[in-house]
Amino acid sequence: MDRNQRRLAKKQAPKAVAAGIDPSELNEFIVAELARQIHGHLGRDKQSFSVEATMEYLFAKIDLTVKAMADIPIACGRGCSHCCNIWVSATAPEVLFLAKRLSSQAAIRVSEAHEITKVFSHEQRPYHPHPCPLLDADECSVYQGRPLFCRLASSADAEICRRSYTNITDENIPTPMMYIIGRDAYSTALPVALKGAGLPHICYELNSALHIALNTPDAEKAWLSGADIFAAALTQKDAVPFEESPGHTMLYEMVFK
Ligand code: SF4
Repeated sequence: MDRNQRRLAKKQAPKAVAAGIDPSELNEFIVAELARQIHGHLGRDKQSFSVEATMEYLFAKIDLTVKAMADIPIACGRGCSHCCNIWVSATAPEVLFLAKRLSSQAAIRVSEAHEITKVFSHEQRPYHPHPCPLLDADECSVYQGRPLFCRLASSADAEICRRSYTNITDENIPTPMMYIIGRDAYSTALPVALKGAGLPHICYELNSALHIALNTPDAEKAWLSGADIFAAALTQKDAVPFEESPGHTMLYEMVFK
């Protein structure tokens, strides 16, 4: 992009974000604008001690993006839950948002699942598939509140998912490129916004983080007040740290410096 194109792209970014980002038209100004808007919501959530506004905003945008990709053929559909047997990553506000929506029965299932999955690292977990405790008859029981990575999961071949996610093979999941680009954009913007807000910005394994959220008094208020309540949750040790990720650091500098 030359200077004029960059100026135009920057000017058009808020409109692109408002519509839910289009992965086929993505540029760094759009992802930076997304991070800026998430950061704005986080600032207000810190005042109200509730993650609702940030998560409602983020998930509405992701849903717009997914809706606009409806013409991309994928094998995913109601009752298909092969991908719900592996390690699920989620940031703290996603976990807190979800924890508030769980029934007491679901909370018990989370604790039971956590007892089984807590001994497996991210590297080990593919060899020890276990159903997400939020699955109910092969459907997500918290569909409207499911995490970012669940919202943007997709595959062109359910049979490959079945084989791979149940540890029969180690085939790569044929995820359409537009879903990968969309997932990367949202999963980059969110931690950048969290870091900008002075909040922990790493991803946690869902069962362990939900277990903590469900067993910490006033978890949401404590976390938004600066307590690192998820410090003991499982994390992906093989993930590239924020500070060593060119995508994250470049975006952080665009938004906050
Ligand atoms: S939260 Fe829902 S979509 Fe995500 S792994 Fe669990 S059951 Fe599946």
